[in-house]
Amino acid sequence: MMPACHTLVAAMVTSDGGVAQGGESQSWKTISKYRGLPRVHMLLWLILKGRILTNSERFRRHFSNESCCGLCGAVEEDLSHVFRDFFEARMVWSRVVKKDKLDEFLSLEFQNWLIINIKHPQLYPINSGNWDVVFDTLFWNNWVNRSYRLFSLDLVSSKGIYQRSMRMVAELDCASFVLRQNQRTPTLPGLSVARWETPLAGWIKVNTDGSRNAGSGLASCGGVGSDSESRWCFGFAKGIGSCSCFEAELWGCV
Ligand SMILES: [Zn+2]
Repeated sequence: MMPACHTLVAAMVTSDGGVAQGGESQSWKTISKYRGLPRVHMLLWLILKGRILTNSERFRRHFSNESCCGLCGAVEEDLSHVFRDFFEARMVWSRVVKKDKLDEFLSLEFQNWLIINIKHPQLYPINSGNWDVVFDTLFWNNWVNRSYRLFSLDLVSSKGIYQRSMRMVAELDCASFVLRQNQRTPTLPGLSVARWETPLAGWIKVNTDGSRNAGSGLASCGGVGSDSESRWCFGFAKGIGSCSCFEAELWGCV
């Protein structure tokens, strides 16, 4: 007999693997309510929009002559391979999913897999507390780590991916707690919450920043000007060359 979760979302998926109308709105609804990190939220949104250019997708669009994975040589580098089936991602998932549920977890249709894990956190993980956030943070870090591998940057083991994800989840919990506390606690007299505010009418506020790459020593700066209606008036970005962080910040002001 088909597991309950398959039955639950079967109506979302059409015979060619696409998402049906009802299912699509369900997926958007689920993603829109996602309570994790904004960057993960954005990644989920791009996935549902079909904007992630895996080799399989690039091949389909005639951007590439092959659809295979450049890292492990798998025939098809699709979303499922990138986020779930790639050997390192698989090792990460096997750390957190119940052993008797792992095969089922790894064989779900990709978009259903995403939605089920966000909507039904009790189904697969060993520890279901916060699973929607944990799942998507692991999901995100699998993506980041794979990009690092492709560009020959820092290599992180599956244990490292897991640990980094748990740190991110802890930071998110902590930030949510502080936010809730701040909402409950009235601001003390004389103290104010630091936030960006529009300038007075007729004025333009310019916000600038500078940054420096610790490895190369190269720095850049940029800024944006906004009016009293928060409208973008102008912006700039400039490569400075080799200098300190402080000098980069000063260049932004100049
Ligand atoms: Zn691969």
